[in-house]
Order: sequence, then C-alpha cells, then structure tokens
Amino acid sequence: MIRFNVPPYVGGEIKNVEKAIENMHICGDGEFTKKCSEYLERTTGTTKCLLTTSCTHALEMAALLCDLKEGDEVILPSYTFVSTADAFVLRGAKAVFVDIRPDTMNLDENLIEDAVTEKTKAIFVVHYAGVACEMDKIMEIADRHHLMVVEDAAQAIMCTYKGRPLGTIGDFGCYSFHETKNFSMGEGGALLIRDSKYIEDAEILREKGTDRSKYFRGQVDKYRWMNFGSSYLPSEINAAYLSAQFDAADEINHSRLARWSQYYELLTPLAKTGKIELPYVPDGCVHNAHMFYFKTKDLEERSRLIDFLKKNDILAVFHYVPLHSAPAGIKFGRFHGEDKYTTKESERLLRLPMFYQLTEEQTEYIAGKVKEFYGI
Ligand SMILES: *Cc1c(COP(=O)(O)O)cnc(C)c1O
Repeated sequence: MIRFNVPPYVGGEIKNVEKAIENMHICGDGEFTKKCSEYLERTTGTTKCLLTTSCTHALEMAALLCDLKEGDEVILPSYTFVSTADAFVLRGAKAVFVDIRPDTMNLDENLIEDAVTEKTKAIFVVHYAGVACEMDKIMEIADRHHLMVVEDAAQAIMCTYKGRPLGTIGDFGCYSFHETKNFSMGEGGALLIRDSKYIEDAEILREKGTDRSKYFRGQVDKYRWMNFGSSYLPSEINAAYLSAQFDAADEINHSRLARWSQYYELLTPLAKTGKIELPYVPDGCVHNAHMFYFKTKDLEERSRLIDFLKKNDILAVFHYVPLHSAPAGIKFGRFHGEDKYTTKESERLLRLPMFYQLTEEQTEYIAGKVKEFYGI
C-alpha cells in the first residue's frame, strides 16, 4: 500500500535527540530551539521567530497579540483547516467567511472589502498548498481599513510571493511542523513576528505570562508574572528532530518539487483532454510542493477514483469540509456573499500521495493508475 503521507525523516534526527539528552536540557528553549528559530529568521528575513508547540498555537498567539475579543469580526476563507478559525473563535471573535478563487483555492482578494464592517479587526489568509494569496491587494485593503493580517502559512514554508517569503508579509505568520507537513517535529510550529513592538508580549505569552526569556538572556535578575500567558514552547526533543530536517532543507524541498513536477507532467494529457484540472501557480509565486492535488469532474467521480486507487494499493484523500457548513461554523460564523466556489470546488479536489520519501517509481505508478481510471 502506498501511504498518503510518511513523516519526513532524513537520518540525523536520532543523533540530535541524543545530543539534547546529553545536554541535559530537554525542556524548551535550548540549543536546538535556538538553532531552528535562527534558521527561520535567517532564511525568511523575519524580525523574530518563536518556535511553538503547533501552528494552531502560533495562530492562537497571533489572535491574542492582535487583541481579538468578543464581538470582533475576522475575515477568512471557509475552505481551510479548523485551526485558522479556532484561533480567534476561542477569544469570542466571529468568523466571516468569504468565497475562494477556483484557480488557487485561496481567499478571493476581490471579495474581501465588501465583507468589511465596523467590527472587522483582522484578515486571516491561508496560502493553500503553499501557493500565495494575492498579498499586495490584501495588504492594501488591510492598510486602508486598519486591519491586522495573519498568514496561516502552515503549508507554506520556503514559499514566496514576488520574492517575499510567505509568513513574513502580514503582521504575523504561522508555520506548522506537524508530521504531515514538509518539515516536521511531530507536533510543532512557529510564529513569525514582523514588527518588533510585539516581540516582548509574544515572549511573555509563550512563557506562561512570565519574562523568563529576558531572564535567560540576563536582561533581568529574576523573572516574574507579567501578563496572561500559556505554555506555547516546544520541548528540545522535538526541536532536535526538526533541526536535522532544516540541515537537509534543500534536499527535502528539491525532492518534493521533483515528484510534484513528475505528477504534473504525467497527468498533463488528462488535463489537455479536459478530464481533470491541474493545480495553478500564478506568476510571482514559488511553491514548495506541499501537496499534489487535482480536480475531478464532480464528487461522484472523485469517490469512484478514490475507490479505484485504493483497490490498486494507493491512498488518495480529500479534505476540508467547508467550515461554514460544519456545526461550529454555523455557531461561530457566517458566510458573506455567495458560496460560488467553496463547496463546489472542495468536492472535486483530490490529493495524491506526497511525501519526502516518495520515489520516482511510485509516482509513475500512481499517475499511471489515474490515467488508467480515465481510460488513457
Ligand atoms: C496543518 C495546518 C494547520 C495546523 O497545524 P498544526 O501544527 O497541526 O497545529 C493549520 N492550518 C493549515 C492550513 C494547515 O494545513
């Protein structure tokens, strides 16, 4: 059976975990946490990066730093993972869902402004499959209406928009290092902070409401309870695992992109004859092969294809029941405007196996089976 996902593993992880144990520092913010956050700061150019326990928690921190509260409204796509909405719904803010673009499955930048009300405080964008939202337009709308912008860049590490790394354009960016993502630490994530004025509050929030980060740097002689907070720092054991993958980042990225291009080429004949639709990457966007998806004719065809692939030992999946139609979405949000594409396009989308260890032969076999299903 070809699994849908295999957690990334490059070989250096074990040695790093052993080193963390030998260091006798397995809680947060040791050598490996520092290495990982410095790597992200260096490669993205962000002002500050804090490693977190998940992307969900990075998004929660962003919602707290944006000071989102009861009665505030946040604009976001309905076609996303639940964490994008959980982050601010936990603070009592309301989700205002806007339709997506059918080509990239991202928030339609041309529909955002119409959804802005006096209560709107933020836009949470999602860079689906590591392909950027139209950030110039989104930042311009946010500036005009004084809205915060949070990038759910869970899938978008090593991706750029007009040369700028995703996660560094909005006020806050959030990465995921869950085992299903390009780089992993089991469970984990990172918060990217653009404006240095938020750094101190973010550090306090992450360290149970204390100024322990300052204490460790020798900037204060004792640490105290400064504000509300939680425990958003991951253990060194997890950071050690991630650090090995950052050491092999180019190799991981290169390998995934090779499999992605291979799928794309092999399936192009199906797209040319109008049987399927292949993913679209607009000019100016560099993606990271986070996923390989394509679109079938409709829901019924997708179900038959998934069954066919399963019978041939291939696990293909779909995802995201649109949030606005789910029980919590009805309770905590509303859809602004018409759902022209969110539901319809989500029902056509199918994801093929995509992971670092996927081989050229496996990719060829999978693409061959998809073609066989369509009689080519
Ligand atoms: C994976 C993912 C998340 C959640 O990441 P965790 O690290 O598991 O919390 C959030 N948003 C999107 C778009 C994701 O793909």
